[in-house]
Amino acid sequence: MQMHSLNTQILAGTVAGILLGLGLAAVGPDAAITRHSLAVASLVGTLFIDLLKMLLVPLVFTSIVTGVASLGAHDGKQMRRIGWITLGFFVFSMAVAIFLGLSAANLFRPGSDLNLTLFQDSMQHFQAGQTATSGFLVPFLHTLFQNPFAALAQGNILAIVGFALILGMAMALHGQHGCGNLLLLFREGMDLMLVITGWIMQLAPLGIMALLTQLVATQNTLLLGTLAKFVLVVAGTTLLHGIVILPLILYSVTGMTPVRFWQGAHKALVTAFATSSSAATLPVTLQCVQDNLHVRKDIAGFVIPLGATLNMDGTALYEAAAALFIANLAGIELAMAQQMTVFFTAMIAAMGAPGIPSAGMVTMVMVLQSVGLPVEAIAILLPVDRLLDTFRTTVNVEGDMVACLVVQKMTDRSLSRPGQPHSL
Ligand code: ASP
Repeated sequence: MQMHSLNTQILAGTVAGILLGLGLAAVGPDAAITRHSLAVASLVGTLFIDLLKMLLVPLVFTSIVTGVASLGAHDGKQMRRIGWITLGFFVFSMAVAIFLGLSAANLFRPGSDLNLTLFQDSMQHFQAGQTATSGFLVPFLHTLFQNPFAALAQGNILAIVGFALILGMAMALHGQHGCGNLLLLFREGMDLMLVITGWIMQLAPLGIMALLTQLVATQNTLLLGTLAKFVLVVAGTTLLHGIVILPLILYSVTGMTPVRFWQGAHKALVTAFATSSSAATLPVTLQCVQDNLHVRKDIAGFVIPLGATLNMDGTALYEAAAALFIANLAGIELAMAQQMTVFFTAMIAAMGAPGIPSAGMVTMVMVLQSVGLPVEAIAILLPVDRLLDTFRTTVNVEGDMVACLVVQKMTDRSLSRPGQPHSL
């Protein structure tokens, strides 16, 4: 009953936020009411995200350690099986997303008709320092293995994930030597984080309303109009992946209908849409898969935090489509081999993007560099990035939840096969 009313409130907050944003945009950015309303919306929205982020590090750490260590309750082979199925599914769903992004960009060719003056204008305003990176794989691997205490204190999520995986594995493989107490500690810690998440979610209707008001009211409609085709192609393809492809995969593996999935998952999807951050949404995602979609704690605790960092279907699709868009703007025709390079770098770039707003923009530099495209052209994407981020983050989070359900089903299936050896 209480859950039902919270859901209704979240829906009301979503509608109210969009309407308010449209109203403020109509009144104009200089009106006193717009300035004051946006200041309040910014404060409320930021506080809501801050509260969710406050939980991020303790939640990611405890849930990955608990998830991996609990796999030790099964035999070592099963633990490895879950790990491989999870990673395999992440790569598979991102590959499908990138294929869709590249196909749509080739079909509709956004950017080939955009006027060049605007493109050059934007390039002048571009600050190269913000996005300059060189080489990606080495720094990526380097951030994975760091002093865990420094990583926890600095919120370095990739390094936290790396250490939590190793600690969890050690506990799983070493369980008989007295790690039971430690496991209990982490498990109780994680349960407490979920209790706090429940409290914060009571504020979700207000937070989501504030964030959407801000987003809708401050969108630059002029540039949006010019970039409309690109926005439509990316948003449309992202929605196709989220509304058709992922539900189809889910249904064919688990038999779960899209309606049933939506009922259990929509709270996380709406939060992802409003926050543009898989990481900030993580507590809600965990709650949805465990409480509403009935995924076991060991699987949810392993797949969801890992997915929030590594599994980004929407981001991967965006990075690939955007690379082709920039190529069109620059008048460069990308050959098949170059598109394959875009395919692979988009996947690594999406995996390397942390689950925070606009992270995909930064890691996209490596995709552009990989085929020699002008990195400065990212400037033209900046005005529409925030808008597209809402869609891609929603699909990123949806992909994590679908992965959870698929992994649970495939693990159960492989276990129930009589006489089947548990080899990899
Ligand atoms: N905002 C996205 C996320 O948190 C990452 C991105 O910028 O693509 O999932």
